[in-house]
Amino acid sequence: MNNRLYAQLADAWKALSSVTSVLISAHIDPDGDSIGSSLGLLHLLREQGIKAHILQHHPIPKNLSFLPHDHAFLSYDQPDIKEIIAGTDAWCILDLNAPQRLGPNILPFFEHFTGKVFLFDHHVNPILKADHSHVIIESSSTCEIIARMALESNIEINAQSAECLYTGIMTDTGGFRHSRTNAEVMRLAATLIDAGADPVKIYDRVMNAQSLSSMQLLGMALSNLTISHDGALILMILRKEQLVGYSSEDLEGFVNYTLSIEGAKIGGLITEWEDGTVKMSLRSKPTHEVRSIAESFGGGGHVQAAGARVRHGNLKEIVESIQQLAKI
Ligand code: 5GP
Ligand code: MN
Repeated sequence: MNNRLYAQLADAWKALSSVTSVLISAHIDPDGDSIGSSLGLLHLLREQGIKAHILQHHPIPKNLSFLPHDHAFLSYDQPDIKEIIAGTDAWCILDLNAPQRLGPNILPFFEHFTGKVFLFDHHVNPILKADHSHVIIESSSTCEIIARMALESNIEINAQSAECLYTGIMTDTGGFRHSRTNAEVMRLAATLIDAGADPVKIYDRVMNAQSLSSMQLLGMALSNLTISHDGALILMILRKEQLVGYSSEDLEGFVNYTLSIEGAKIGGLITEWEDGTVKMSLRSKPTHEVRSIAESFGGGGHVQAAGARVRHGNLKEIVESIQQLAKI
């Protein structure tokens, strides 16, 4: 392991653990890594007697609500939210690189925040200004960064924190299968298991939690794939009529099926929503990349997993552009 990458985190913890109250926020459309790192950090801080809360645009997804989160979440529309934020010393931003990714319900509060800002992330090109910025793109996940901060600082990772941090490492590596999976990540996962994370329970709760109707929607989507480039580009497209009654949470994991087809190099889930937004979730095999496609629609992400949302987008035109932009 490149220890230099993580040694700086001891300073971050030193600064963070010297305050009395911390707010934690991660990205819109929360996933295992954003929720896992937020709760993992919250439990580390609370163990040290530091007041910690999470504030985010969307509620905790159903398949992650087994993670310990008693009294963890504040609501952006609770009457005393402004006073609470004004009394907060430090705001930790996790798993995102651009302020807009906080979501419209959180961004205005963040823009007026006068305390210290800490950023912990593993996405490239951070454009969020922070007093303490710890962006480690070599990391598998933001959960890995938080766990290594604890280890570098000789802080004991309690069982609650271990469960949350293991969850995000598992989901961001696609269940220890994607390119960031290596011996160091597996050793860290083992450390978290030793600290109390139950890998069998976590996999079951996170991955086997799709509703029957979302599985049926997946079945329909799989029978209508849009295939081009001799089978190398596979797009799963869902129009707004097909998504009535569903939310992005119901589509968790759908995109991965596009890449599980033999010969597929780039896969994508393109969804059109009632409010006119078109969202794309793109994935590629290690030989290919999708970040540049997402960036040309104002989004971003990782080389092999990226996304974008286009307001008032034209679904047909967006699909055609993706087909042209895909470097196959
Ligand atoms: P997902 O496809 O799972 O929603 O996201 C995959 C990756 O792309 C995530 O790491 C996320 O950070 C990034 N991503 C997804 N949507 C957006 C977006 O609208 N803007 C940016 N900048 N990144 C995104
Ligand atoms: Mn992440």
